[in-house]
Amino acid sequence: MVWVDLLNFNNSYISSGQEEEKRVSVETRVSNLDGRTIAETVIQDFKSNLRGPLLRPGTPGYEDARRIWNANIEKHPAFIAKCTGVADIVHSVKFARENNLLVSIKGGGHSIPGLGLCDGGLTIDLSSLKEVRVDPEEKTARAGAGVTWGEYDHETQFYGLASTGGEISTTGISGLTLGGGNGWLNGMFGTSCDNLVAADVVTADGAFHSVDQDHEKDLFWGLRGGGGNFGVVSSLKYKIHPIGKVLGGFVGWNLDMTREVMEFLGDFVRELPDEVGKIGVEVIASREGVPMVIIRPGYFGPTEEGERLLGPIRRLGKPRYDTLRAMSYEALQSSRDPYWPWGRHNYFKSGFVEDLTDDVIETFCAHTRNVPSQYSQIAVEYYHGAYSRVKSGETAYPHRVTGWNLAIGGSWLDGSASERNISWVRAFWKDIEPLMSGGVYVNFMSAGEDDRIKVAYGKNYDRLVSVKNRYDPTNLFKVNENIKPDVASQ
Ligand SMILES: Cc1cc2nc3c(=O)[nH]c(=O)nc-3n(C[C@H](O)[C@H](O)[C@H](O)COP(=O)(O)OP(=O)(O)OC[C@H]3O[C@@H](n4cnc5c(N)ncnc54)[C@H](O)[C@@H]3O)c2cc1C
Repeated sequence: MVWVDLLNFNNSYISSGQEEEKRVSVETRVSNLDGRTIAETVIQDFKSNLRGPLLRPGTPGYEDARRIWNANIEKHPAFIAKCTGVADIVHSVKFARENNLLVSIKGGGHSIPGLGLCDGGLTIDLSSLKEVRVDPEEKTARAGAGVTWGEYDHETQFYGLASTGGEISTTGISGLTLGGGNGWLNGMFGTSCDNLVAADVVTADGAFHSVDQDHEKDLFWGLRGGGGNFGVVSSLKYKIHPIGKVLGGFVGWNLDMTREVMEFLGDFVRELPDEVGKIGVEVIASREGVPMVIIRPGYFGPTEEGERLLGPIRRLGKPRYDTLRAMSYEALQSSRDPYWPWGRHNYFKSGFVEDLTDDVIETFCAHTRNVPSQYSQIAVEYYHGAYSRVKSGETAYPHRVTGWNLAIGGSWLDGSASERNISWVRAFWKDIEPLMSGGVYVNFMSAGEDDRIKVAYGKNYDRLVSVKNRYDPTNLFKVNENIKPDVASQ
């Protein structure tokens, strides 16, 4: 059991919201996973080895560093080490291991189940690692683990280049890529992890590894889809590709068109070229709070050709909204930010389905008619092209079938509405799960879905366990969608 006991000098307890940026003198007692107390001298010794600050409850900056995207998850680490480079990461990993502390790794802090933080242990916070170095000749970019997609795109687009990245610009590149990484460029260039060519990583024994296809191949393979299970990644190197103007935005209809829109899209996608990098249908509320159904395509080719190719979407019924237009890649990559801001309460259920069958459409329509929060979004996105030309075992990310990824994204403002919204997501999922093809994208899972971890890693699970056995046999890195080592049974 890990616990942190916060007392001020008047011996009164400090509540978590109270201490924000306040310089209070605190006496902190910290115990590790076996209940042993960690001496303050050991903690001070660790602190003096760090170039970045070591934040503790009640110290300035702690509350800010504890903030994550999903307000529905509340965790209080005993320590947050704001690492400035590899040396800080190595010291942090050794401190956690030697003192038997729970340890979490925070990249962008965007994980739906809040896996960047842990309760009572050490959070290795990488958000200060912000360098992006673009090599336009080699067509690669090396980025620090704390970079977000907005920051990465800004640097690579300066040279007119891009890698497949997440749709929301505030998402961290590291958590997203290590889990697989799906984005607008899926059809042209595959997932983010398909574009990863090298990574630097500190493993559980504190050793530094620079890995790629030719160096520690197994570890490199595991990093491309196996999440944060194998170590702390300090930087990632990607392939980058020329990307100019793109065609993005959406066409939207009244909610009663949902069935027709889904039936149309299910047929329409069959002939689409890779240049339609990704396309999806979504139930969402307009800015005025009116529910609508939309089709969102991203097209990466000549604008005129894109307008012609996507023309049938505009001719379906009488669209109420039409924002499809040529825009910069950076504009496309941040266009959905307002719909997914930091600080709301969120709960997701997700899974893959090969076809939009009548039953899938019927169930989708039934549950999207009564969404309890106007901030929730239910999307089905089509993954195809380069994404599904990669073999399932080639990277640790296993889901390579052309088809749809459903995400029931429950989102609401007030914590008191959590039960109602979570129940709605679960009821929707209960009805649609039997119609799914199986499998789930590891980065779209919510807290409490441990029973789905094996299907998330699919056929690659056994190989992932053997990589885990080699690089993290004691499961130091367990605050993630955890691959459990089975060294003892080997
Ligand atoms: C609104 C929203 C939109 C999203 N859109 C997309 C999308 O378009 N495409 C997509 O693929 N996914 C998407 N995701 C999912 C996203 O990939 C995950 O949330 C991902 O975990 C975020 O990465 P992060 O670094 O911000 O996460 P964090 O919360 O910082 O970390 C999450 C997990 O990643 C691991 N991790 C993070 N950094 C490191 C590191 N440097 N070394 C080792 N382990 C690390 C940690 O173990 C932790 O368990 C979206 C999520 C949300 C909430």
